[in-house]
Amino acid sequence: MLSSTHPDFIPFNRPHLAGPELMYIQQAVAAGKLSGNGQFTQRCQRFFEQQYGIGKALLTTSGTAALEMAALLLNLQPGDEVIVPSYTFTSTANAFVLRGARIVFADSCADHPNLDPAEVARLITPRTRAIVPVHYAGAACDMDALLALARQHGLWVVEDAAQAIEGYYRGKRLGTLGHLAAFSFHETKNISAGEGGLLAVNDPQLAARAEIIWEKGTNRAAFFRGEAARYEWVDIGSSFLPSELNAAYLWAQLEALADIQRRREHLWRRYAEAFEPLRDAGYFELLPVPAGATSNWHLFAVVCRSQTERDALLAYLTSQHILAVFHYLPLHASPFYHARHDGRPLPHAERFGRCLVRLPLFYDLTPEQQDRVVAAVLAFYAGREASSSS
Ligand SMILES: *Cc1c(COP(=O)(O)O)cnc(C)c1O
Repeated sequence: MLSSTHPDFIPFNRPHLAGPELMYIQQAVAAGKLSGNGQFTQRCQRFFEQQYGIGKALLTTSGTAALEMAALLLNLQPGDEVIVPSYTFTSTANAFVLRGARIVFADSCADHPNLDPAEVARLITPRTRAIVPVHYAGAACDMDALLALARQHGLWVVEDAAQAIEGYYRGKRLGTLGHLAAFSFHETKNISAGEGGLLAVNDPQLAARAEIIWEKGTNRAAFFRGEAARYEWVDIGSSFLPSELNAAYLWAQLEALADIQRRREHLWRRYAEAFEPLRDAGYFELLPVPAGATSNWHLFAVVCRSQTERDALLAYLTSQHILAVFHYLPLHASPFYHARHDGRPLPHAERFGRCLVRLPLFYDLTPEQQDRVVAAVLAFYAGREASSSS
């Protein structure tokens, strides 16, 4: 059995402390301002505005909250349709369901969980309002095709860039391509605030209202900049801004971003090198880096030949005290949505849901631990037939 207290236990993820997190939290406490939109929040936001070229960056309590802000900003109404991949985290769809929108789930590409643009094109109707590309594993969707569809049909594009910090598409940063984009700083992402996120407002026409929605429907931010005579309720909104404690923690992670990325790249490449021969022999697939995309080293996955083999691999890793995980159960078949779904099978999303395994990949994974993960996967396949078919 897998016990996290076993001396050989290798977790799936462990939060990495860059160093100054606690010092910055102490500074935030000493500054006497712990609520949102203080110095650390503004430093984090400026980082994304200046380094990423995002018009307006708003720190949020989660990636989920950033997606919910996006749905509010687009004024979605009951009956509006939003095209979302089925193979994604719940929040990608739930944010729009909260506004009464109808989710039209699109299938993934055959060799990668990202949205298949040809499938998206077939699903556009006169009621479609938005497309939500999820950059799975931090690797860009085919944005040229998706943005062209959006232009042609007058649709909003909201990037779910939750996993995609430091990812690029044809030289442009992910999170800057859609009208809006959501990043996540959840504990399992490349950099973390425990829970946290960011809304990138790339369409300048949405910026002023984004700030109001962010601050509970008030003009508070504009008032404190001296741009409004009174501080009052001007629109709908909610409490989307995190406290300075979270922002202080995140600032330490942002300062360490380059170092964190280097370390993750090193680990990612070691896995790739170790597993490419098995991939070539047909034991499993590795996710390709799609055309025009880069890896941001967010996750390392193998796609098994069957669910039976996937479950056997996970069980074997468990017996070796290694926690690997599968995800996502496709949302079109979820208990909440399956009765609302139009019944189309989404075979690629279903296959990734049955066959994909994520291996431990985190900053403090030691070379010895990674060698043990590699050895365990190799040992599992040593007893099995090579095949090139799935
Ligand atoms: C992590 C994640 C989210 C949610 O982000 P939180 O910060 O956990 O709310 C949304 N979409 C995708 C694709 C994610 O990976």
